[in-house]
Amino acid sequence: MYASVIVDIVNSEVDKIFEYSVNGLNVELGSRVSVPFGYKNIEGIVVALNETTNFPVEKIKPITSVLDEEPVLTKEGVGLAKYIQKKYFVPLALSLRLFLPTELRKGQVKAKTIKYVKLSSIPFEDMVALVKQNASSQKGILDRLCQTELIKQSILTEEFGSSALTTLIKKGFVEVVETKGYREPYKELNDVKKDITLTETQQKAIDSVLSTDKTVSLLHGVTGSGKTEVYLELINRAIAQGKTAIMLVPEISLTPQMLRQLRARFKDIAAILHSGLSKGERFDEWWRLKTGKAKIAIGARSAIFAPLENVGVIIIDEEHDSSYSSESSPRYSTIDLAKFRAKENNAKIVIGSATPSIESYLLAKNGEYNLIELPERINKQPLPEVITVDMRGEVRRGNNTPFSYALREEIAKTLEKQNQVIIFLNQRGYSKNVICTECGEPIKCKDCDVSLTYHMENESLLCHYCGAKYKMVKACPNCGSKYIRYGGFGTQRIVMELKNLFPNARILRMDRDSTQNKEGHVKILESFAKKEADILVGTQMIAKGHDFPSVTLVGILDADMSLHFSDFRSNERTFQLITQVAGRSGRAKEKGKVVLQTYSPDNFVLRKALSYDYKDFFEREISLRKATGFPPFTDIVRILISTTEEERTEAVTKAIFTELKAVYESKKEEFRFFGCMKAPLKKLQGKFRYQILMRINKNNQALLDEIYETSLKYNDRQVGVYVEENPTNLT
Ligand code: ADP
Ligand code: ZN
Ligand code: ZN
Repeated sequence: MYASVIVDIVNSEVDKIFEYSVNGLNVELGSRVSVPFGYKNIEGIVVALNETTNFPVEKIKPITSVLDEEPVLTKEGVGLAKYIQKKYFVPLALSLRLFLPTELRKGQVKAKTIKYVKLSSIPFEDMVALVKQNASSQKGILDRLCQTELIKQSILTEEFGSSALTTLIKKGFVEVVETKGYREPYKELNDVKKDITLTETQQKAIDSVLSTDKTVSLLHGVTGSGKTEVYLELINRAIAQGKTAIMLVPEISLTPQMLRQLRARFKDIAAILHSGLSKGERFDEWWRLKTGKAKIAIGARSAIFAPLENVGVIIIDEEHDSSYSSESSPRYSTIDLAKFRAKENNAKIVIGSATPSIESYLLAKNGEYNLIELPERINKQPLPEVITVDMRGEVRRGNNTPFSYALREEIAKTLEKQNQVIIFLNQRGYSKNVICTECGEPIKCKDCDVSLTYHMENESLLCHYCGAKYKMVKACPNCGSKYIRYGGFGTQRIVMELKNLFPNARILRMDRDSTQNKEGHVKILESFAKKEADILVGTQMIAKGHDFPSVTLVGILDADMSLHFSDFRSNERTFQLITQVAGRSGRAKEKGKVVLQTYSPDNFVLRKALSYDYKDFFEREISLRKATGFPPFTDIVRILISTTEEERTEAVTKAIFTELKAVYESKKEEFRFFGCMKAPLKKLQGKFRYQILMRINKNNQALLDEIYETSLKYNDRQVGVYVEENPTNLT
C-alpha cells in the first residue's frame, strides 16, 4: 500500500505530494504522519491511499510513524480540502491547515492528562506486611487506596509526599493510570434552561426547515423575533437523531452568549472553537469534537471546519455579516463550504438575519432557498420608536458637541428611570484623525496611505490599517506648525464627553482596543448585562446579537459614516448596521427608543432602515444592482497586485492586464466591466497596491479558472498577486 502525503510546507505556490510506503503501519486517509524528508522527518497528511504507485518502487521510503491514534481528518475533510484547493487555487497544504488547530501541528501542545493511582493486584495483606513499620506515609497511601479505588496522584503526593509514592510504585504495590483531561474554556458561562414554549410562528419555521426539499432555509426575522430559539430547537432535533450540529456566529464576541444558551440546553456536548481561547483550550475543544465527546461546534466562520461527522444541521446566524468571507488566503466564502458539507452529510443549512444580504434574499425569492419570515417580535412588542435628528440644525444652533440636544435629553430620562443606554459610533480611538490647522494636512502613516488616529493610551497615533504606533507629534511633519487639531470623534472621546455631561453615570467602552485581552469581550458584556454600568459606548462590535433587556435607548451618533464609501455595498451595509444597532433597544418589557443623528435625514437607506422596511429597501437596491450590472447579477473579480516598489507593481499589473485583455477581447459578452487602476488604498504596510477589476457573468467557473491561472503565474516571493471573488472589502 502506498500513501500520497502532503507535507506541511507552504513556501511554494505548488503542492508537493510525495509517495511513501505504508510499511505495515495503521495509516488511513486523513492520518497525520511523520515522513523522511531530506535528512530529517517532517509532518504530513495522507490525502490518498493506493495499492500501486507510478513511482520507481526502490526509491519509495517508508512512513516513519503515525502521529495520532486516529486520522485527524475524515474522508469528508480531505474532500473539502481538495474542493477549496481547486475552487480558490491554493495549495492543498494550505487548505489542509484550516482543518487542524495550529497547536496540533508540530506538537506544540500536548493533550492534558490526569494521573490516578490505584492498588496493584498483589493481595492487600501481603503488601501491608512488606511495608516497614515506621513508613507511615506509605501505609497511609495504602489505607486510602483501600477505601477509594482511584485517587488523583497530585492529591496523594500533596498529602503524603512524593517519595513514599515512588517507593510504592517501585515495589509494584500501586500503579499509575492516565486519563485524558480537558481544559474547559469559559467555565463560568452557564445558565438554566429557559422555560419557553415555542410560538406558532417559531414552530412553523422549524417544520418548514425540516420538511423542505431545499438544502438552505433563509430565516428572515426582525431583531427579537425569536430566531435563536428556532436554531436551538433545530440543533436539539439533530442531536436527538444522533447527529451533530455546527452553529456559526459572525464575531468572536458573540460566541460566549451563544455558548451559554447552548450549555443551558445541551450541557457539555457543546464545544467552542475560536482564536481567543488559550492554546490548550483550543486543542482540547477540538479533540472533544473530534472524538465525539462534544457534538455541537460553535464559533466564528472557521468553525465550519469543525471535526464533526454526521452533521445534521449547519446554522449561520447574522448571515449577511461580512466576516463570513475570509479576507486572507484562502479567501473562501463560508456558505460555499457549508453547502459542500451539507451535501456530504445530507444536512440542512439555516441562515438567519434581520437584514439578509441582497444576494441571499434574491436566491430565496427566486426559489433556490426556502424563505421563512418572522415579521414580528416575540409577544408582538413594538419595534423601537425613532427620533431622527438633523445634525446640520444642531450646528446652526451652536451645538458643536457630538450629542444633539434631543439625545442628551433622552439619555438623562433613561438614566433617571435606571434603564440602560447604548451609544454607537463606528470609530475607535480618541479622534478620527489629527490635522495641521496651518497646511490642512492630516498626519499619515509612513507605510500606508491613510491618516492616523489619536489614542489616549500613551498619547499615541495608531494606524488602523497596519497597526503601526507612533508618538503623538509636537509639530506638523509637513510644515512644522505647532497648531494641530483633533478631527472627528472616536469612542474614547465620546466616553470623556459623556462623563462631563453625566458625572454620575457608570460608563463602559467596547471596541477593539478595550477587548484585546482574553475574554475581554465577555467581561464587558457580562458587566453591562449585570447592570454594573449605565451606558455602553461601542463600535459595530455592540451592534450584533446582544440581548440586554434593560436597554431602552440607543443613540447612533453618526449614521452617515458608512454611506459615503465608494463601494457598491455601502447602502446595504448602512441599512444592516442601522437596523442591527436600533434593534438593541427595547427588547424586553419596556418600549425602546432610538435617536439617530445624521447630516442626510432624507436619505432613502436611512429612512427605510428606520421604518424597518426591508422589503422596500431590497426592491430598490436590487433594481439598482440590476441596472448597473453589480452583484448578485454579476461576479466581481479583483486582482490585487502589491509590491514594495511602485514601478514594479505597475509593471506587473500591466503585464497581467495585457494578458487578460486578450481574454476579454475574445469573450466580451462574458464581461460587464474590465479595467485597471490604483487600488483605493494606494499603499498598505509599505507596499504599493494596484488592481484589475472585472465584473463577469455569474457562476462562470471556466472564465474564473482562466483568470486565476493567468494572474497567479505572476505571484512570487516579491510580488503579491491576489485574486478575490466578490470581495467584501474593496479598499
Ligand atoms: P432574535 O435571535 O430573533 O433576535 P431571540 O431568539 O434572541 O431573538 O429572542 C428574543 C427574546 O425573546 C429572548 O429573550 C428570548 O429568550 C425570548 N423568546 C424567544 N422565543 C420565545 C418564546 N417562544 N416564548 C417566550 N420568549 C421567547
Ligand atoms: Zn502643517
Ligand atoms: Zn499603516
